[in-house]
Amino acid sequence: MRQKIRFNSKTIHGGQHPDKAYGAVMPPIYQTSTYVQTTPGVHKGYEYSRTHNPTRTALEKSIASLEGTKYGLAFASGMAAIDNLVKLFNPGDQIISTNDLYGGSYRLFRQVYEKYGIVFKFVDLTDIGLFKSHITKQTKMVWIETPTNPMMRIVDIKTISKIAKEHEILVGVDNTFATPYLQKPIKLGADLVMHSATKFLAGHSDTILGLLVHSSDKLHEKLSYLQNASGAVPGPMDCFLVLRGIKTLHLRMQRHSENAQEIVRFLNQHPKVEKVFYPGNPNHSSYQLAQEQMSGFGGMLSFLTKTKDRKKIDQVLSKFQMFTLAESLGGVESLVGHPASMTHASIPIAAREESGIFENLIRLSVGIEDFRDLIDDLKKALD
Ligand SMILES: *Cc1c(COP(=O)(O)O)cnc(C)c1O
Repeated sequence: MRQKIRFNSKTIHGGQHPDKAYGAVMPPIYQTSTYVQTTPGVHKGYEYSRTHNPTRTALEKSIASLEGTKYGLAFASGMAAIDNLVKLFNPGDQIISTNDLYGGSYRLFRQVYEKYGIVFKFVDLTDIGLFKSHITKQTKMVWIETPTNPMMRIVDIKTISKIAKEHEILVGVDNTFATPYLQKPIKLGADLVMHSATKFLAGHSDTILGLLVHSSDKLHEKLSYLQNASGAVPGPMDCFLVLRGIKTLHLRMQRHSENAQEIVRFLNQHPKVEKVFYPGNPNHSSYQLAQEQMSGFGGMLSFLTKTKDRKKIDQVLSKFQMFTLAESLGGVESLVGHPASMTHASIPIAAREESGIFENLIRLSVGIEDFRDLIDDLKKALD
């Protein structure tokens, strides 16, 4: 695209052009491992699909356009993207992260990378003073999730980035929950954004894929080297599915947000609900910050039931009919989950409860069905 276009057009056209071979409007699925060379080293820009693949290139350009960055890199999963990033660091380097981190990221940091000598500090990043007090000469990156999972806390990307810059600390943001439709971390000062495209970007619960996006030439050289050296790249079919999902991202995110707002209104006044966690809820502890940093609040929320009896909570969970009890999030269909025993089971109980993930916490990924049917389902399950 030559002209400057707006976000809702970028989802469809950003970084895209009709295919050069036959003019296909959608990037074809280039299901090939290798490419012809006319003489050794002379080719059309592609040699081997671990290094580059045209379908993957189309996706990498699409996400870079959406986040407003120079570079995008695609990986076999969100975890593979984070793994690639952590490989930038050396023994002794320190990474500061949030204390209610995505369970898989926590596991990767603690169980895989600590033994290579990288030091991780898990800190409540909503407390700026606490963040500052953990910075040392060894601190090389701060890893932000916002809204956090599943407590929906809001971390101030702008303030943290400003402090991090003063100490030459890299700022990475897991933007999976918000997507670039609701939040643009790079504009707020972050250096790098990661996505589990498995979730809202692909949006149809049919593929696993991860993305890293940023604008630094120096970082790109290192990250693309590692991407090729380690080889955790997605196949062309998966890239195609994410590209297709992205084309309706703006429509879906709008509906996810509207539906979640309706559900929050319902849960707020429900006699069996103790507390609702949603950044768009006026009683949310960081409502003001959420207003400033996000352009809407998305489809993720969690709530505490009044009962703490695990048997009764399991009964509630098994009564859902439209909400499917499953891991994951961000698809067109609504899902319900129990963080303490599902997504966050790999975090030790003490650490889990310190960040607010109690047995009576239920997480919803609100889909794009008719919200009245979703509310009927919640009514019956909570009854
Ligand atoms: C799912 C998820 C990941 C991991 O992504 P995968 O695609 O499952 O590997 C990382 N961060 C967040 C916030 C997630 O929800």
